[in-house]
Amino acid sequence: MRIAFLGLGAIGTPMAVHVAKQHQLTVWNRTGTRAAAFAAAHACAVAATPREAAAGAEVVITCLPTSSDVESLLDGPDGLLAGLGQGALFLDCTSGDPDTTRRIGERLAPLGIEFADAPVSGGTNGAEAGTLTVMVGGTEETFRRARPILDCFGRRVEHMGPLGAGHAMKAVNNALLAVNVLAVGEGLAALVKSGISARKAVEVLNASSGRSFVSEYLVPQRVLTRLWPLTFRLALLDKDARIATGVLEGQGVSGPVLHLTSDLLAQARAALGEDADYLEPIRLIEQEAGVELHE
Ligand code: NDP
Repeated sequence: MRIAFLGLGAIGTPMAVHVAKQHQLTVWNRTGTRAAAFAAAHACAVAATPREAAAGAEVVITCLPTSSDVESLLDGPDGLLAGLGQGALFLDCTSGDPDTTRRIGERLAPLGIEFADAPVSGGTNGAEAGTLTVMVGGTEETFRRARPILDCFGRRVEHMGPLGAGHAMKAVNNALLAVNVLAVGEGLAALVKSGISARKAVEVLNASSGRSFVSEYLVPQRVLTRLWPLTFRLALLDKDARIATGVLEGQGVSGPVLHLTSDLLAQARAALGEDADYLEPIRLIEQEAGVELHE
């Protein structure tokens, strides 16, 4: 199948690698050198513009920071809409927002272009392994058409509901991840200050009911080791938490915990910058408490 992939960032790149193994792929990236390097490494074509990427593609996949970024690629002489043909399938793997996605969908439907939100979870490791969870919003028919493509990088591919439902699911998931990052950091800082070693505290936590993905995997592998790899930008988690509070507000759920989490992430983003990793708020907690969570 002829597929175009736009957005070769930290997660888009390993996802596109899986697509390239099974399909005739064309890639586009805002910074063209990244697309050229990818195309050379994975024997696929590189497009100079979104229009060129979409022209002749049966399926177009985007994976950009925000839904606004996706929307900004649609228009103009070099935009996606100038290249997308009637009957094309457009899958947006961005962790985006439901409202913008529904607006994009309203523009695409009269043009005969099928659209679905298909954000992913599982991190860059999951993308490399092809084991992502994919949360799809769109019609049943679009889901059925999208599924074999999403199977290239997904292990669990689920239809969540109408357009935007995938983004809502993903945003709430990531808001819960953010709650855990902050809460585990705070709890461990207090335990270490009270004289318990960080390693022992994490081990006992992970044999008890307060454990989470953060305590079981992220803290042992990235914080206690002091490796702090950059795999997912804090700026993106902050964006996700804000989308989640919007989802709550839209449903009349007051959500004080998720609102506070979103506020704390925004403060951490302001302090740490646009390129900080999403676990680095734990560094701020360490600094404030005057402890280090090391082996
Ligand atoms: P990165 O910041 O690593 O990469 C962003 C990509 O989008 C780059 O290719 C960048 O191009 C491109 N881009 C940024 N702004 C624009 C724009 N205005 N127009 C066109 N292209 C643009 O992000 P990730 O790959 O980490 O994340 C992508 C999406 O996936 C986000 O929504 C994120 O929340 C989500 N996600 C990320 C995960 C992760 O572990 N990293 C896990 C699950 C979901 P350029 O090369 O020019 O900068």
